[in-house]
Amino acid sequence: ALAVPVARELEVTLIPVGEPVYMLISDRTRERALERMRADFVANASHELRTPLASLIGFVETLRGPAADDPEAQQSFLGIMAEQAARMQRVIGDLLNLSRIEISEHSPPKELVHLPPLLERIAAGMEPMLKAGNTKLQVNAPPDLPKIPADADQLTQVFSNLLDNALKYGKPGGVIKLTASAAPDPRFEPGGVAVSVADEGIGIPREHIPRLTERFYRVDKGRSRAVGGTGLGLAIVKHVVNRHRGRLIIDSDTGKGSTFTIWLPGRGA
Ligand code: ADP
Repeated sequence: ALAVPVARELEVTLIPVGEPVYMLISDRTRERALERMRADFVANASHELRTPLASLIGFVETLRGPAADDPEAQQSFLGIMAEQAARMQRVIGDLLNLSRIEISEHSPPKELVHLPPLLERIAAGMEPMLKAGNTKLQVNAPPDLPKIPADADQLTQVFSNLLDNALKYGKPGGVIKLTASAAPDPRFEPGGVAVSVADEGIGIPREHIPRLTERFYRVDKGRSRAVGGTGLGLAIVKHVVNRHRGRLIIDSDTGKGSTFTIWLPGRGA
């Protein structure tokens, strides 16, 4: 965690019970910060949905008016409208997932999951997208990896999001490496399994890294939108990792690529 000095927000209440006068000082810093985060989130979510909606309404007006007799323009506008509607659907889908994950955060996962077949399934599902992006995916997950307590559906979302990002922000014609290992790693507690997704893409400037898992935070808004991003993928990753009492480490070298590593505790941790 970053230690950022914050001005404390104190609330002072005088309790008039005669002499002596009691003064109650409450530290509201954390509460106010949470209130602001909640308000920001609602404002951001509304904005994310409002923009494509405004564009949809605009095109409907044009289709009813100026473009009513122009079949060519109609086809092109309908294409844009379909894309805007799909975008709203993705944002709403991710918001619902995020809220489901948050609700689950109080109950630790109980199922025992063997990661290699799960990772192979995700990799197989990505095949068409990898082909379209002319990108190779190398999976390295030893079959003797120990099982870990996990929620298979949530982990599927996590690794899909990370691979999706590696593809979106990776190098066209490049290689993505998906690696799982139970080898001791000084960055993590002993035991457990680490899974990393490494790309050779644009990388992330250092100063952005601590904020990447905030909802709707993007390094480059235009680029994220152009590749169909919702800005919620890494927030989902963070919450799933929290639920698993795991850790997320982001390493990146601008222009060379990024590696997202997730460590998940083993049985009896
Ligand atoms: P998005 O839907 O915008 O991709 P995410 O929450 O998944 O949202 O990621 C947040 C931001 O982090 C992205 O907009 C992008 O700027 C940056 N990012 C995520 N993954 C990578 C990556 N592999 N390489 C470079 N930048 C990345």
